[in-house]
Amino acid sequence: MTASPYIGRFAPSPTGPLHFGSLVAALGSYLQARAHGGQWHVRMEDVDTPRCSPVMADDILRTLAAFGFEWTGAVMYQSQRLAAYRTALQQLQDAGWVYACGCSRLEIADSSVHGIDGLVYPGSCRDGLIQGHLPRAQRVRTDDLPLCFDDALQGRVCQRLASEVGDFVLNRADGLFAYQLAVVVDDAALGITEVVRGADLLASTPRQIYLQRLLGLPTPTYLHLPVALNADGQKLSKQTQARALNVDAALPLLCQAMAFLNQPVREDIATLAEFWRWATAVWSVAALPQARGDNAMLCT
Ligand code: GLU
Repeated sequence: MTASPYIGRFAPSPTGPLHFGSLVAALGSYLQARAHGGQWHVRMEDVDTPRCSPVMADDILRTLAAFGFEWTGAVMYQSQRLAAYRTALQQLQDAGWVYACGCSRLEIADSSVHGIDGLVYPGSCRDGLIQGHLPRAQRVRTDDLPLCFDDALQGRVCQRLASEVGDFVLNRADGLFAYQLAVVVDDAALGITEVVRGADLLASTPRQIYLQRLLGLPTPTYLHLPVALNADGQKLSKQTQARALNVDAALPLLCQAMAFLNQPVREDIATLAEFWRWATAVWSVAALPQARGDNAMLCT
C-alpha cells in the first residue's frame, strides 16, 4: 500500500507584488511540500477581478521563478473557475443551505455586532427577504456548535460560526464569488492535503471546514505560519505599502525568511539550487515559532 501523496499550494492574490510576508508563506508551504516529497501548486486568487490584474499575476510568477520556486503543473486561475463555483453554490442551494440577502452594507452595519472578522450578520433575511428588498448576496446558514480543528502549529482552534461570524456570503452583491467558497472548491479540485499559509487566515479556516462538510469535500490539515509585521505592528500587505521583493536579492531574502521562521541560517550559500537543497534538508516544523512580532532581519 502506498501512502497518499502530499499536495500543498501557494495561493497569492494578484492585487500587488509579492512582499516579504508573501515570501514567508511561499517558502513555508514549498519547503513543507518538498520535505514530504510532494507536489506544490500555485493558484492565482484573482476571483475578485476588479482588484486583480493579469500584469500583477505575471509579475508574481516571474518573481517566484526568479527565487527558484518550481511548481507542479499549470498555474490555476480562479477567474477561470467560475463554473465550478456555480456548481458548488447550486449544490448548497439545492440542499437548502443558502438564502438570498437583500440588506445593504449600511443596514448590516446598523444592526450588527463586531465579530472575529468584521460584522456578524444578524440574519435579517434568514426567513425570507425583508419587504421591499431585492436579492443582493447569497449567504450560507451557519450554526452555533463549536467547530474545532487542530492546527499543526497554532494548536486547537474553535469557533462558533453563528455568533462569531454569522451567516457568511458565498456570492456577493456584485455577482462575484466569495473567497471562502472559491478556496474550498479549489483546494478540493487540486487534491490539497495540507494548507500552509499565514496566520492572518486562521479565523477563516472554520468557515472553510464548514463549507467542506456541507459540500462533502475532504478537510486538509492546516498549518498557519506567523505573519510578518512592519515596524507599526501591521501585517505586511499592499494596504500597508509593503515593499515589493527585489529579485536581485533572492538569496539574502530567502535567508531572512528562513530566519523569520526560526529555521537554520547559512550565509555561505552561493546559488539558489544549493539553497533549496540545503533548506529542504534542514526544514523543521518543530522549530517554527507560533507568532513573530518583529521582522527578524538576521542575515542582511
Ligand atoms: N489569496 C490569499 C492571500 O493572498 C491566500 C488564501 C489562502 O492561502 O487560502 O492572502
